[in-house]
Amino acid sequence: MSNSWLVDEKLSVFPVLDLFDLNLCLILKSTTSLSANDIRLIHSFLDVYRNFCLLIEDVQTDQLTGLLNRKTFEENLQRISEEPPPEPSKIEAKDRRATAPAGLNGYWMAVVDIDNFKKVNDTFGHVYGDEVLILLARLMKTCFRTNDLLYRFGGEEFVVIAQCNGLEGAYFAFERLRKTIENYNFPQIGRVTVSIGAVQLQAGILVTYLFDQADQALYHVKGNGKNQVEFYQELVNRGIITPTPTLSGDIELF
Ligand code: GH3
Ligand code: MG
Ligand code: MG
Repeated sequence: MSNSWLVDEKLSVFPVLDLFDLNLCLILKSTTSLSANDIRLIHSFLDVYRNFCLLIEDVQTDQLTGLLNRKTFEENLQRISEEPPPEPSKIEAKDRRATAPAGLNGYWMAVVDIDNFKKVNDTFGHVYGDEVLILLARLMKTCFRTNDLLYRFGGEEFVVIAQCNGLEGAYFAFERLRKTIENYNFPQIGRVTVSIGAVQLQAGILVTYLFDQADQALYHVKGNGKNQVEFYQELVNRGIITPTPTLSGDIELF
């Protein structure tokens, strides 16, 4: 990492970061060739920059799974309801799908909770439980695009914010996640399932309320056989959930 290459007398390349699939280089074009002192100074600045990036990555991500953490979710929360979700600033794994194609017309939030996870811990031990969390996070990454935001919300609960093409597209995306997990053979443990409650993000409605709505949909799934995807609005339309009034505005509840 501390090496640099002199491409020709006036062009130098300095490796900056090599994290997961992010490789960053500084290419410097100078009018004269760099002195040893110049190179030392550039390396010192790059060291500071590198440490800064690592620090940000460390603060934003969950240590066990490498997904964004709950603190980051809460920090992004208000912004997410007012504008499209920001680009993830963290490093993404190699297997993430391509960026979103044109024509997608909405953002959807899903709360994903592992079914009967306490039993996994009780039967196989905490270490195997942790391995399920790591593998499940990897499976989540394979199911969503690079621009979609994946959080470990806490314990065995995850949140996805994804850009989808209408309710049908969102159902397809979250159902694909559910099926991917259901069909995966977890070492030692075998089959693990998740329950998913989802809602469409709407500008002007506090994300805390939308999160609560997704959670109500999840609660319904938990009480009705688990291992399914349900949408809040659909449950309201079917008369299963009585809607509560939503506040709009800029009050921060977290
Ligand atoms: P349900 O289907 O209703 O969601 O049941 P559940 O057993 O998944 O839910 P419950 O809330 O009863 O238990 C969650 C369990 O998740 C209990 C706790 O030991 C486990 N857990 C939480 N965080 C971690 C973790 O970081 N590692 C491991 N191995 N287990 C965890
Ligand atoms: Mg659970
Ligand atoms: Mg839970």
